[in-house]
Amino acid sequence: MIKVYENFDFSRVGQMQSLLESHGIGTFIRNQYGSSVMGEVPFVEVVPQLYVLRERDVDRAIELLQLDLPRDNEAGDWVCPECGIDVEGQFSRCWKCGLGRDEE
Ligand SMILES: [Zn+2]
Repeated sequence: MIKVYENFDFSRVGQMQSLLESHGIGTFIRNQYGSSVMGEVPFVEVVPQLYVLRERDVDRAIELLQLDLPRDNEAGDWVCPECGIDVEGQFSRCWKCGLGRDEE
């Protein structure tokens, strides 16, 4: 399996999975139930991650994911230039590093 996407927002990862599945690409989400994983797990390990099952589908999967990104921007979401993470349009600052939307 090859990881093609990850996001703290599980619904986002689910959307991406639906997108890929609708194009006939077999996928698998790891850490979907991260909170129930046994033992001590570092927080970074429970970020939902989207995997593609077949290696030959990876290029197409990444292409589809990138095509989907501009639609996020229309919805008002933006990507923090510092962390590279998605921030919802309702927030004017990155929730991770505090960088403002229009700051560099
Ligand atoms: Zn940031």
